[in-house]
Amino acid sequence: MATKKIGSAGRFGPRYGRTIRQKVANIEKKQKIWHKCPYCNKKRVKRISIGIWGCRSCNAKFTGKAYTPS
Ligand SMILES: [Zn+2]
Repeated sequence: MATKKIGSAGRFGPRYGRTIRQKVANIEKKQKIWHKCPYCNKKRVKRISIGIWGCRSCNAKFTGKAYTPS
């Protein structure tokens, strides 16, 4: 399946065109990895909802950008 190549955006199948799916895949990759916490400096931060990020280590909740914390 050719759609496997573009990671998480593969769920769109052949729709929307290749370039835009590539962009979505890049953004979602950044969104899903562990981010660094500004309070305890551990990579334990995940997005809770759009613009809201939470640290699983020290339980800090803070605002950031929609797809990345900073
Ligand atoms: Zn933390």
